[in-house]
Amino acid sequence: MKTAIYPGSFDPITLGHLNIIRRASAIFDKVFVCVMVNSDKTPMFNLEERVELVQRVTKRLGNVQAEASAKLTAEYAKDKGATVIVKGLRVVSDFEKEFQIAVINKKMNPELDTLFLTASEKYTYLSSSVVKEMAKYGADLSEFAPREIIDDIINKTSNRR
Ligand code: ADP
Repeated sequence: MKTAIYPGSFDPITLGHLNIIRRASAIFDKVFVCVMVNSDKTPMFNLEERVELVQRVTKRLGNVQAEASAKLTAEYAKDKGATVIVKGLRVVSDFEKEFQIAVINKKMNPELDTLFLTASEKYTYLSSSVVKEMAKYGADLSEFAPREIIDDIINKTSNRR
C-alpha cells in the first residue's frame, strides 16, 4: 500500500490545492492531507476549521483523509506509514523553497521522497492569500475556492472587518 501525505496550511483550501489532492488520490492508495499548525501569520480559519473545510471538500474522495498536525512533516509521515510527500509547484520561486525543504526531510527520514506535481495552468496564480484578498473586495470566488466553502469564507471575511 502506497501512502502519501500532502502538507500545507490550507487557510483556506483552494481549487489549486483540491486539484493536487485529486491527482495525488489517483496515484496513491491513501493520501493524508496534513493541515499544519505552524502558520506564521494569524490565520483566517483556526486549525479545526481548516481541517473541517478540507474534510468537507474531499468527502467524495474515499482514500483521502484530512488531519491536523503539530509535528514535523518527516515525523508525521513516519507515523502514517507514508513514504512520499506531495507538493504542488506553481512558479520557480515555489521550487527554490520546496527544494530546500525536500532535502531536509530526506535527511530526517531517508525513506521519504518528495513528489512535485506541477500546478494545473489555470491555478498557477492561485494561493490562499489571493482568495482572502479577493474575498475582502467582495469578488466572485467561484473560480478560486471550492463552492462548498465559499459562504464560510464570505462570513469569516465580514466578521473580521
Ligand atoms: P498557499 O501557498 O496557498 O498558502 P499552502 O501553504 O497551504 O498554500 O500550500 C500547500 C501546498 O499546496 C504547497 O505544496 C503549495 O505549493 C501547494 N499549492 C498551493 N496553491 C497551489 C495551486 N494553486 N496549485 C498547485 N499547488 C498549490
